[in-house]
Amino acid sequence: MIATTEVGLRAPELAFEALAPRPLSTPVRMGIQEHRALFGPMPLDLRPLVQALAATGLGGYGGAGVAAIRKWESAARDGAGGIAVANAAEGEPASAKDAAIWQTRPHLVLDGLEAAAVAIGAAESVVWVHGGDRETVHAIERAVGERGPGLVPVRVVHGPDRYVSGEHSAIVRALRGGAAVPRFRPTGARSWVGGAPVLVNNSETLARVALLARTGLAGHREAALVTVVDAGVRRVREVDAGDRYGDLRGASSPAAALVGGYGGRWHDWRELAERPLLGAQAPELGAGVVALLPEGVCGVCETARIADWMAAESARSCGPCRFGLPELADALDVLAARGRAGRAPARIGTLADLVDGRGACAHPDGVARMVRSALRVFGDDVTAHRAGRCLARTQASVLPLPRHGRAR
Ligand code: SF4
Repeated sequence: MIATTEVGLRAPELAFEALAPRPLSTPVRMGIQEHRALFGPMPLDLRPLVQALAATGLGGYGGAGVAAIRKWESAARDGAGGIAVANAAEGEPASAKDAAIWQTRPHLVLDGLEAAAVAIGAAESVVWVHGGDRETVHAIERAVGERGPGLVPVRVVHGPDRYVSGEHSAIVRALRGGAAVPRFRPTGARSWVGGAPVLVNNSETLARVALLARTGLAGHREAALVTVVDAGVRRVREVDAGDRYGDLRGASSPAAALVGGYGGRWHDWRELAERPLLGAQAPELGAGVVALLPEGVCGVCETARIADWMAAESARSCGPCRFGLPELADALDVLAARGRAGRAPARIGTLADLVDGRGACAHPDGVARMVRSALRVFGDDVTAHRAGRCLARTQASVLPLPRHGRAR
């Protein structure tokens, strides 16, 4: 059975509910005493952990798909004195897995962060979090305070509440004294360019590193946290190799799902339901979000709203974000509103091609990917909108989007 942690979308407080005891997702906050009693101490000899990381290829829980061991080896090659970072900045409005993990298992993440810092000879560790995410900030600061001094000092740094400020190059830039906006595409396993390494790992990756250190290869199993958005609620679920997309469905009857977050891909639910969640045959999980679009809700309108929000969230320092994304969002708005939309789909496809791969970071690529998949999955709706009609019962928004969008 899939384990669930439920996070209300509209209420600021978090409501947790236990369905099954699994290491990451039993929704009870573990203070340092409970953590040590359940998991025992983090092994001091990191060699077996490094071997297990290499054997499992564990990592990629933030969406970039890079194994943790490759990042650690790159950082270690660049010399001691750098920074090990736990990325707790959850820029995706649909995602709640970082919040859930920090509010229930903070010490597993901090154990993993300490192992990363020791492995690369870091001078300090940083937990990077959106400053406005008050519950998560509180959980992190409380956990850091509970542990006392460790092998490597830990600092909690509050970043701005922007989608792109959790991007690796934005974190690296901010920790080196600049603004928290992306400036480059991390190449391969390196999230930094020049200078001492700034090793950035996703929070879930670090928690699973800490579990692997205890279980070793023998006790390792493939699993991932997924935020399922369904009927106005985000549920964080821990899935494993045997689970299928159809297992995620709650009471609602989905027509489609956006997989991977707002820079992910739309899928027709009939094609998706029988597919596995994990493994080589699974669709890319990206940021670990599966947002369900109920039957009768307009996918064209939802796509237009997401593209609009994503255009507003860019740092607007490169051409594709300054000019391309707003134009793309405008074209989608025209299609969604069914006004003079005759040539809109071709224009939307052209604009998606123009922004893809042209920014300093991958933000526009994600928007292009999401929009192209919408044109395919909602093909009948697109045709209807071009003719001034809508096939859906409602054009209301069902996916979480913060209020701020582009200035009009
Ligand atoms: S592509 Fe967009 S988000 Fe990325 S650095 Fe350029 S302006 Fe910023």
